[in-house]
Amino acid sequence: MKSLQIMALYTLIGSGIFPCRLPSADFLFPTSNRNILNPGSEDKYFVPTVGRTWPSGTFGCVRSEGFQIHEGLDIACLERDANREPRDPVSATARGIIAYVNRSTGLSNYGRYVIIAHRIEGLPVYSLYAHLSRVREDLNPGTIVTAGEEIATMGRTSNTRQKISRQRAHLHFELTFMANPNFEKWNQKRSPGSRNDHGIWHGLNLIGFDAWKLFMAQNREKNDFNLIRFIRSLTPQFRVAIKKTEFPLINYYQPLIARQDPLFPEPHEALGYEIEFDFNGLPLSIKPLHTWKSDWKSPYHLLEVDEKDFRANRCRKWVYRTGAGDWALGENGIRHLDLISFKP
Ligand SMILES: [Zn+2]
Repeated sequence: MKSLQIMALYTLIGSGIFPCRLPSADFLFPTSNRNILNPGSEDKYFVPTVGRTWPSGTFGCVRSEGFQIHEGLDIACLERDANREPRDPVSATARGIIAYVNRSTGLSNYGRYVIIAHRIEGLPVYSLYAHLSRVREDLNPGTIVTAGEEIATMGRTSNTRQKISRQRAHLHFELTFMANPNFEKWNQKRSPGSRNDHGIWHGLNLIGFDAWKLFMAQNREKNDFNLIRFIRSLTPQFRVAIKKTEFPLINYYQPLIARQDPLFPEPHEALGYEIEFDFNGLPLSIKPLHTWKSDWKSPYHLLEVDEKDFRANRCRKWVYRTGAGDWALGENGIRHLDLISFKP
């Protein structure tokens, strides 16, 4: 898909014209596996990495002794054909529009995968389904799918040297936000001439959140479930003041803007924004700033770090402690803020 079309699609989703506004966020399970709803049966839902236990198939800093992120859920297969290959149907978690289909397994460690764009409570949310053996032939960017509609068949495709074994066949499922619809321009500026096979659907541009936590919250709260409240309930790991205005996140993720304080100006009058991020760099809340303190570093000033959360979830290395014992933004943190606040 040409980048112009992607922008048009994104604008459409962002504008609210896109007919995907759900009264409450009802995310469906992407396969028929429901074992996470039975406490104690998680090992029947999550597929661990080789030689590990089921938590290594969950979302978070669960790989390489806690030093590597796994940004999705690895959902176990329940149905196999005569050759013991997975055949579980994979379905859309919510109503949406097909945003991206990668049919060539060699281009990604996700193998064959599909991304669906949703708009839920005004928030652009993306769902990603990876390692598929088959993607429905008529699915193309722009195709509208309903919640629960079959889109693909589970598989074990990937371009990694170590193949996914038949036994470990699973669906890698992600729910994400998008950092910046101008990702390609940012990426070209950052590393000119670099190869990017997946356009704005590059891993750096998708900021995942924990679908397991979300399914459990939804199951607990039933009709009261609210996505914005769910996002706000996640633990902030660090808070940053950004001395930039009018970057895409502010427009696309407007429902995250806090405006309880009457002293805070409208977003368009702001000097900058204070953003709270969780351990995975997911923006949880945005506050317009009406002053910029003279001793704050520009364009990014680290305001606060939750040490306890940092200790528990440190794999993204957004922040670090300096020799003097102060907190500082690391290379990853600055890169993330550069991407989020990039305007071409
Ligand atoms: Zn995975």
